Amino acid sequence: MKYFPIFLNIKNQPIAVVGGGDAAVAKLRLLLKTEGQITVYDDAPAPEIATWADAGLLTISRPPMSAEQARNACLIYAAAEDDSRDAATHQIAKDAGTLFNWVDNLKNSDFITPAIVDRDPVIVTIGTEGAAPVVARAIKRVIEGRLPQTLGKLAKIGQAFRPHADALPFGRVRRDFWSAFYFGSGPTAYDASGPDGAQAALNELLQVFAQQTPKQGHVDFVGAGPGDPTLLTHKARLLLDEADVVLYDRLVDPRILELARREALVIEVGKTGFGPSMAQNEINQLIIDHVGRGVQVVRLKSGDPSVFGRLDEELEAIAAHDISYSIVPGITAASTAAASLGRSLTQRDRNSGVRLITGHDMAGFADQDWRSMAAPDTVVAIYMGKKAARFIQGRLMMHGADAETPITVVENVSRADQRTISTQLKHLPQAVGNLDGPAVLLYGVTPRIKSCKIYQEQVFERCN
Ligand code: SAH
Repeated sequence: MKYFPIFLNIKNQPIAVVGGGDAAVAKLRLLLKTEGQITVYDDAPAPEIATWADAGLLTISRPPMSAEQARNACLIYAAAEDDSRDAATHQIAKDAGTLFNWVDNLKNSDFITPAIVDRDPVIVTIGTEGAAPVVARAIKRVIEGRLPQTLGKLAKIGQAFRPHADALPFGRVRRDFWSAFYFGSGPTAYDASGPDGAQAALNELLQVFAQQTPKQGHVDFVGAGPGDPTLLTHKARLLLDEADVVLYDRLVDPRILELARREALVIEVGKTGFGPSMAQNEINQLIIDHVGRGVQVVRLKSGDPSVFGRLDEELEAIAAHDISYSIVPGITAASTAAASLGRSLTQRDRNSGVRLITGHDMAGFADQDWRSMAAPDTVVAIYMGKKAARFIQGRLMMHGADAETPITVVENVSRADQRTISTQLKHLPQAVGNLDGPAVLLYGVTPRIKSCKIYQEQVFERCN
């Protein structure tokens, strides 16, 4: 991020716009929404500017801006659309040390004016660091459509009501009260009966919420999917929006954590399947402690929580404390990997079942029913199989598996750095040798798509 967005208090602060043509008018339309004291420096300003001056909204100065005026200004805009005049303004602003914007000249500006959705005092700003103004405008259109026109007015009414709402218990109850106002009865009441209606809605809601007993704590065990945030369930998104505390495993993609409420406490519990981890009893205790405070906890696990997620251990731990919970499934790594190969995990006439196994368990490399897995046309999704690759290969061959059985290894499924390697059982340890991301091994599966690498006889080749 090259530009840091901030909200500058410009109430009663001098703002200088140097220039009086179209560019100045466009900027002024925005600046006139503020409570700044605007001066336009120009000797022949456009008629709109003269009209605004007559209405007392800004001042016109025919003499050019002095060094002292530049020093006193809070912001200076060069909007003359004349290179030499704008360059002169730039120099004055620089000498004065005042924040400066040269309209349509990003390189020589200290700051950018973002696209704005104005529901004063609710202001949404959108910026692309000058990279893609079209994108900013498209986002603005979407947000304009989503935010009720009355939102700003409601916010002002709500602001005045805050001391009354502070009587409600801090945290969830108070938050729910405000949500019920802004996204429930507030807009409807305002549309029907204006400010008085919104005020009445607040009073009514306060009565209802004051009688509520504080909510009990609760934990949701939520699947975060394999990485791509668009593969998250809608329910997972809603719960992330609501959670007070998010306890997540290391494999959960950072893009998904971004979706948690900004005020939420987001804690990594450093678990990667059966890999090195915060002790399981510490994780259990964290859940119990936070739920005990009466808050909403999301226990976020990569993929599906019920697949190699040690879910039952956590469920058993909370059962002793009579804690309410729910489980929200997620998309597991194996199905995402198969989808990316253009394959299904089961297929009529090929395999009537699929196994999900782990290469590792608590005791080390995990033992399996190798004999049945070695049978032709078996499909197995192997999680945590990289380190165990040689062991798995050895066991399967020992039980008669064909050394040429296809295996597709998919690393970093659904992430930008996804890698797909198509190989055979006889090459498995070498093929996974230098992968460092999480990988799922699809035994008995070949990719239908071509954008993968083939590992054969010590070398990687591209498929196409
Ligand atoms: N609950 C998870 C699995 C957790 S165990 C799920 O349903 O997907 C951790 C193992 O899952 C990793 O060692 C790897 O084998 C697999 N895995 C998880 N995320 C992955 C990803 N994005 N790409 C490939 N494999 C992944």
